[in-house]
Amino acid sequence: MKIHFLSLRMLLTFSLGTIAQATLFSQITDPKATEVWEPEPRKITPVVNNMPPSDAIVLFDGKNMDAWTDLKGNACPWQIAESFLTVVPKTGDIKTKKQFGDCQIHIEWRAPVVVKGEGQGRGNSGIFLQEIYELQVLDSYDNRTYSNGQAASIYKQTIPLVNANKKPGEWQVYEIIYKAPRFNADGILTAPPTITVLHNGVLVQNNTEIKGATEYIGLPKFKAHEKGSLRLQDHGDLVSFRNIWIREL
Ligand code: MG
Repeated sequence: MKIHFLSLRMLLTFSLGTIAQATLFSQITDPKATEVWEPEPRKITPVVNNMPPSDAIVLFDGKNMDAWTDLKGNACPWQIAESFLTVVPKTGDIKTKKQFGDCQIHIEWRAPVVVKGEGQGRGNSGIFLQEIYELQVLDSYDNRTYSNGQAASIYKQTIPLVNANKKPGEWQVYEIIYKAPRFNADGILTAPPTITVLHNGVLVQNNTEIKGATEYIGLPKFKAHEKGSLRLQDHGDLVSFRNIWIREL
């Protein structure tokens, strides 16, 4: 009985080995063996004529500011004219009502046609991911400032790979792919946020690791947080925005 059992087990082992070898053989020789059909990506309408894709959350389409408030939660004080939104200096930053983590963002911005000021004082605004990490908006066309503070920099952290600015008064585009930081239950950072940015179609931040909150003075540091709003900066300049949409990832 015992011998019989052992033989059965050997036979089984041999068979399983043979099956495994056959599977491996078919994976090498049969193209169908490595096809994966499930799951199937859901179908969406992509960007057509610069319109948002069908699965995007539209944050500003030129009509109203329903998706935004000031930092205290009151109605958005910035101005809509000619289908775009312009900073009203001294009214403060604005933020989305909805909060986000990992996301893809499309945002178009324009520095004032009338050039005024220099360095950080010319066409300055900013896009704060989760309200904390600033992707700089600045008129950096023929306007030298510190490199880690020019347009498309992660403010005071990472210099953009190139200066892809258009002239002031021309619309510019940021395409952003952002991965939010991870913190453990004790509030300790386990994975830093990362950001990829295309500026006017050109790669300027390539999976850049964000080093902490983007500070004007002092070194960046992290403080644990949950999802956060997208925030736009009032830096006192008449920067305009249009066609803002986001996809949660
Ligand atoms: Mg700024």
